[in-house]
Amino acid sequence: MEIVPVRPQSHAPTAQDGEPRHDWTRAQVRALFELQFAELIFRAQNVHRSYFDPAAVQISTLLSVKTGGCPEDCAYCPQSARYDTGVRAEKLMALDAVLAEARAAKAAGASRFCMGAAWREPKDRDLDAVCAMVEGVKALGLETCATLGMLTDAQARRLKTAGLDYYNHNLDTSPEFYGDIITTRCYQDRLDTLARVREAGIHVCCGGIVGMGESRDDRAGMIATLASLPVHPESVPINMLVRVAGTPLADRPPLDTLEFVRTIAAARICLPRSVVRLSAGREDMSEEMQALCFLAGANSIFYGPKLLTTPNPGPDRDQRMMARLGLRAMRA
Ligand code: SF4
Repeated sequence: MEIVPVRPQSHAPTAQDGEPRHDWTRAQVRALFELQFAELIFRAQNVHRSYFDPAAVQISTLLSVKTGGCPEDCAYCPQSARYDTGVRAEKLMALDAVLAEARAAKAAGASRFCMGAAWREPKDRDLDAVCAMVEGVKALGLETCATLGMLTDAQARRLKTAGLDYYNHNLDTSPEFYGDIITTRCYQDRLDTLARVREAGIHVCCGGIVGMGESRDDRAGMIATLASLPVHPESVPINMLVRVAGTPLADRPPLDTLEFVRTIAAARICLPRSVVRLSAGREDMSEEMQALCFLAGANSIFYGPKLLTTPNPGPDRDQRMMARLGLRAMRA
């Protein structure tokens, strides 16, 4: 261990912290990752408290309304038809069944209900059914979110008319690493759909996955890209890779847990008004690690025992954790 002389540190947030900016460079985001850990968390806390009640956590529930059989080749995904993961292709769920799940999610404390379909892009006839789901969920008093793949302008407008509040479409990683993970569409396709969603007046939910074998530079590049969008996404899910047997990433070594916390803190600083969601991977995280993520500025979780096809902590476990940490559900 290197022994260094004690020198006073400036604990004041830097002038730029907290002001939403759209000109973050990768080098600047990378410099955040390289801060001394306590300094990084302190800066993220300052930004977090400028815009949010640090005790409030937004709670979403995610339901797979159309599981498996996807033609895309996302290397992390058990729903791709290209990988033998044991996930069976199913039909689009019936409206009544979706609404029953939404009622249960609301009763358990969720304020937002997200519907995910394993499609490259929705067919117009499928969109009719999804729009009916959106209308039904909205009528229950829940915020609505959908993740259906790439959209056309007309499809985005239809979803908006049906009452869709949020559309999830993740950038997944940096532009440079994207081709190592997905080859059936390109980064620009993602950006185009995000622009269509924004243009239609739907809030954007967009983040990524870490632990896929990307470098710190890639993690910084992903956050710099998110922070360079003309309007920052209202929700930013940060996922830890769930290494599912049968997918090409099943044997990736786990990411250092403090590197994950650093990623959350950098996202909080660069996207000060966005809700940063601690998303996939929580099943394998200790409460202590999740507490560090909340300290670093995460202020949203997915609630419910399943995230599409992978396990997630059950509501009882999350309620215990939130009580232990003095956290409470954010109002929609
Ligand atoms: S992440 Fe989505 S688009 Fe990619 S394979 Fe899975 S379901 Fe298909």
